[in-house]
Amino acid sequence: MKTERLYYSDSMLHSFDAHVVRNEGDRVVLDRTAFYPTSGGQPHDIGTLGGARVVNVEDNDAEEVIHFLDRPIESAEVHGEVDAARRFDHMQQHTGQHLLSAVFIELFNFPTVSFHLGDETCTIDLAIPKIDAEQITRAEERSNAVVFENRPVSVAYKPKEEIAALGLRKETKRDGEIRLISIEGLDLCACGGTHVRATGEIGAILLRKVEKVKQGIRVEFVCGHRAVRAARRDFTALAQASTLYSAKPHDLPQLIAKKLDEAKSAERETKRLQESLAAFEAKEMVAAAPAGAVRVVERVYDSGDPNYLRQLAAQIARQPAARAILALRQPPTLFVAQTKDLPGAPDLGAMVKQAGLRGGGTKDAAQGGAATWDVIERALALLR
Ligand SMILES: [Zn+2]
Repeated sequence: MKTERLYYSDSMLHSFDAHVVRNEGDRVVLDRTAFYPTSGGQPHDIGTLGGARVVNVEDNDAEEVIHFLDRPIESAEVHGEVDAARRFDHMQQHTGQHLLSAVFIELFNFPTVSFHLGDETCTIDLAIPKIDAEQITRAEERSNAVVFENRPVSVAYKPKEEIAALGLRKETKRDGEIRLISIEGLDLCACGGTHVRATGEIGAILLRKVEKVKQGIRVEFVCGHRAVRAARRDFTALAQASTLYSAKPHDLPQLIAKKLDEAKSAERETKRLQESLAAFEAKEMVAAAPAGAVRVVERVYDSGDPNYLRQLAAQIARQPAARAILALRQPPTLFVAQTKDLPGAPDLGAMVKQAGLRGGGTKDAAQGGAATWDVIERALALLR
């Protein structure tokens, strides 16, 4: 039996009584309901029914509305309560979508092909290859202007044969009597969802992220309470960044770009200084190493910058007949390097692997890490 949908005629009805026509324990069908089932991009309502919690609502091909409950109910007559805040939020987003889609047609003839209402934000997909920032701004301004005009949003029913002449924004696949939703002077479309009574109830409409998707351009938006929450969240983040930079929010992008530039040049300068320091230190270390056919520089560091130690080992290997064995305790790492083409020199890359270290390298320069220091110590013994 077709369920009578009370939200069709009154989207502000949150409290109702009904008769149970089918009871499958935690799945219940009523003769009438104010609960909205997931459809047309709008998520289902939640609330309570006969004392049980309604956790999901769906409809089927027989046009029945099925209430999924957290526990079975027994009574044949039940009282239902729809979560009003969640419903109103959905009404704001959903009606906002009608308005926004109509504005995209009015301004640029951009058709909406799909709509998604998520937990945080909503999106529409426009069947167009691209959109620019000015078009987004204009669509947002026009949408909000229609909100402020507080135009009536009304419901009417017409037989399918009559609607072709009315000029719907989007064709409908439904047959029989069609439910039409209009925003006065702007939009007419077939829809079974829940809508606010006038555009003012949508509240502010904010367009946010724009991205390219398979079927065109996806525009993210938020309406009403969500818009206020999103703006508050954004402002809080901006205010925190402003405090960190001691700057006004609007100066942040320029300032951050400048700071990033400065950080990059500082990084380049640090690298340059490290290189010249490593070259200088390498010369001194080799000169101080015990004399022999090969001067071996062996050093254990409790802490240090692994990048610097790698450079230092490389610089030692640039001295004539020298070998570097540098070990770092934290994180346990070994850096080895030697002057190229030393007669009878060992294959350092092979030795690092043989010692069971993670890493490797070439015959004359290698690096390896280990989970614990004792593995490095064993490798050092092997190298000696
Ligand atoms: Zn709708």
